[in-house]
Amino acid sequence: MPKQDLWNEPACGHNQKKGAKQKCPAPKPGGNAGGCAFDGAQIVLVPIADSAHLVHGPIACLGNSWDSRGSLSSGPELYKMAFTTDMNEESIVFGGEKNLLRSILELAEEYHPPSIFVYSTCVSALIGDDLATICHRAQEKTGIPVIPVDSPGFLGSKNLGNRAAGQALLDCVVGTSEPEGDLSRSINLIGEYNIAGELWNMTPLFERLGIRILSTMTGDGRYHQIATAHRAKANMVVCSKALINIGRQMKDQYNIPYFEGSFYGKTDTSKVLRNIAELIGDPDLIMRTESLIREEESLLDKRLEPLRRQLRGKKALIYTGGVKSWSVISALQDLGLVVVATGVGKSTEEDKERIRDLLGPQARMIEDGSPKNLLSVMAEFNADILIAGGRNQYTALKSRLPFLDINQERHHTYTGYEGMVELAQELVHCLTSPVFAEVRRPSPWES
Ligand code: SF4
Repeated sequence: MPKQDLWNEPACGHNQKKGAKQKCPAPKPGGNAGGCAFDGAQIVLVPIADSAHLVHGPIACLGNSWDSRGSLSSGPELYKMAFTTDMNEESIVFGGEKNLLRSILELAEEYHPPSIFVYSTCVSALIGDDLATICHRAQEKTGIPVIPVDSPGFLGSKNLGNRAAGQALLDCVVGTSEPEGDLSRSINLIGEYNIAGELWNMTPLFERLGIRILSTMTGDGRYHQIATAHRAKANMVVCSKALINIGRQMKDQYNIPYFEGSFYGKTDTSKVLRNIAELIGDPDLIMRTESLIREEESLLDKRLEPLRRQLRGKKALIYTGGVKSWSVISALQDLGLVVVATGVGKSTEEDKERIRDLLGPQARMIEDGSPKNLLSVMAEFNADILIAGGRNQYTALKSRLPFLDINQERHHTYTGYEGMVELAQELVHCLTSPVFAEVRRPSPWES
């Protein structure tokens, strides 16, 4: 697929505006400050746990991005190894293709992975190394699928890199193998990265309903499972607008219906289970899903009761990217918190629409995520807690305000019914921690 088509994804909200031509944001100077396209491609593909991931570029590209997210695996650990061709001046002057081919062959011989993903970077793309040809040659020599991921950093934002990685899966992996067993209730989860093990909060629910997860793209993923994804009965795009191209193209090519959903919060978790049952269209499954939801929700309400009492009416400010700007709101509202404002720095028009649905037409949306602005919004609303990514942690803590990490560095799982209890417990711990009363007291020499 030509690279420019990545900007023209018809299912993306940017392109659905009236009269839109090519509306997905093109790269602008400084636009990669939150992560480049190469970084975005790694975020999507590295969680494929049994595969080798080789970065064709200078060592710094790898160092910038490796293992920065807590995607967990229930088995193979090869994805945690960092491989790079470590391009130097000589490769830049004379080309890095020979070195790349040698590296792939070495990797195949040493680790025998089921597949090797090879990432381009700004440097290898600028000197014109032909990634696709080298990968093809290496595949012929080794018999192992070698997948080129054409996502140099200058291509655009992290989101665009996510999309380029999704395209690599569609072009080279999905549909290359046939699954075995009963597929009548099988689904793919697209854009679920199993951060801190969040996928595993959901798998017991699917197992109880007899729903088979044919593949996850890509948390705790396996190459051969993704290769069979084209036989699923339904696709769920999990909180990830950036991978909507996979959902849309699998619908066009394989006639698999898809929907977008979130595993955060009681309401959204139940909605997801209902949606899946309806898409599969099995009346017995729909009935059993309703009864599981009833049972789980009533159990959850009992477990949450004491926690809700402590959380009711507390005011939260959320500052996180993209879809989490709305998916977390729903979870917090389920717990009785009042969301006073939410960040929309990386949100699409559709995300903003959902925020308005949840918070009302006057919803306060924050574009400027500077510490100064966040603190001033916290003060304006007298907010009790800042819920944001790790980089905002010190903004809150230095101002002696409770903080909860909601981004990829988190160590707690907040998905599904089980995750709601964990989220509520973590919020209570933060809000009731005695340390805040202690640090807010004047120091002895002041009094
Ligand atoms: S791919 Fe380009 S923008 Fe990304 S880390 Fe490497 S040099 Fe930097």
